[in-house]
Amino acid sequence: MADFGEDSDDSDGESGMGNLNRFIVRPPGHSGKAKKGHLCFDASFETGNLGRVDLVNEYEYDLYIRPDTCSPRFRFWFNFTVDNVKQDQRVIFNIVNINKGRNLFNGQMTPLVKSTTRSKWQRIPKEYVFYHKSFSHHGHYVLSFSFGFDKEDEVFQFAMAPPYSYSRLQTFLSVLESKASHLKENFKRETIANTLQNRKVDQLTVGAANIIGGSKKIRTVAVMARVHPGESPTSFVCQGLLEILVSSNALATILRENVVFRIFPMLNPDGVFVGNYRSNISGLDLNRSWNMATPFSHPTIHAILEMLKSLDNSENEQLDFVIDIHAHSSLNGCFIYGNTYEDVYRYERHILFPKLLSASAIDYAKENTMFNADTLKNGTARRYLCCALSSKVNSYTLEVSFHGYKLKESDFIIPYTEESYKRCGLSLMKAFLEYYHCIGVIPIQPVKEIPTKREK
Ligand SMILES: [Zn+2]
Repeated sequence: MADFGEDSDDSDGESGMGNLNRFIVRPPGHSGKAKKGHLCFDASFETGNLGRVDLVNEYEYDLYIRPDTCSPRFRFWFNFTVDNVKQDQRVIFNIVNINKGRNLFNGQMTPLVKSTTRSKWQRIPKEYVFYHKSFSHHGHYVLSFSFGFDKEDEVFQFAMAPPYSYSRLQTFLSVLESKASHLKENFKRETIANTLQNRKVDQLTVGAANIIGGSKKIRTVAVMARVHPGESPTSFVCQGLLEILVSSNALATILRENVVFRIFPMLNPDGVFVGNYRSNISGLDLNRSWNMATPFSHPTIHAILEMLKSLDNSENEQLDFVIDIHAHSSLNGCFIYGNTYEDVYRYERHILFPKLLSASAIDYAKENTMFNADTLKNGTARRYLCCALSSKVNSYTLEVSFHGYKLKESDFIIPYTEESYKRCGLSLMKAFLEYYHCIGVIPIQPVKEIPTKREK
């Protein structure tokens, strides 16, 4: 995410709050066994986040996001379940401590819901959702939504965006390893670092290992995601990119023969695991730490930084791109943040890839694309790596919206789904191929287009 205008640092003394563990809300004075309709809230699971619930009246509940561990000012991601509901029970939930006043809830974005027998995430209709400044909550912005529980024995789950856990990534990568067995030495999965809580940071290498050692340097693309743990959409983008890259698709095959992809799908697995929004387990924003990374405090990004530096100095590989994927909380579409350079030729080279991505991605938002040399962002991967690595390397932030995208010449916002986030990964792959065509690394030859789902 880009900016923090209108942030509230006021955490209402919520630091140290843990996730709710099957917390039953009873009416005042009630004791004994809970009855149906005494809602049971739970966030004690991977990526879960809900810190506190207060009963306002028979129908209304105030819900508090659990602030990031050791960093109480970050409160945006939520993900919790509700059960023990009564048939046709109607409620109003107020999420009362979001730290960012200005975000996509001001527009058309609404929370997601699913339940035991309806496992696909659905957005709560906008007419039931209100994002407003509430005088009964000290003037804070409050996200209120009404909801009717239509099935008594279901567990209902509410989330800010479709969750994507560390375990889900591990399962996906295991499946990917077996799908990629046909690539033999052109696919490798390694652990590049372990986190402070001893989780693995995976590195996937896809591509032309067989031509390393040839007369020309092999071109290399590095892609990373999920340094901000609450930005779950980035995991779907990364999964989409990995799936197409290891497939037998004709375009992917050409790319693999000419380019090496080094993909780091989850830079902050501890933060993802505990349900943080922006911080690692010790409260650090890793995307403000690239310029001060140490093996002790930032083992994951430090290891990746060392790897990128060694690629940049390699005799066999030429590092062309570092792309860090983020999810944006106040803008729609997918778009790129890049850098400005005094060297006009470097700048011209730098703006080529965003142009190619805008041509390959139907959800690309040109109006949100930006190039700058903002010193406030010196600790981000985009800003730090454009100075720490050689001038050949292009480092970008790729943003995808938490909400949706507009098709060209339309003002209607189409909400993203897990599938359309994955399609961003496919668009990325097409833009890389186009780039290497443009600079003459891959000769242009007629290939069969990727079939759309309908054509299959
Ligand atoms: Zn981010």
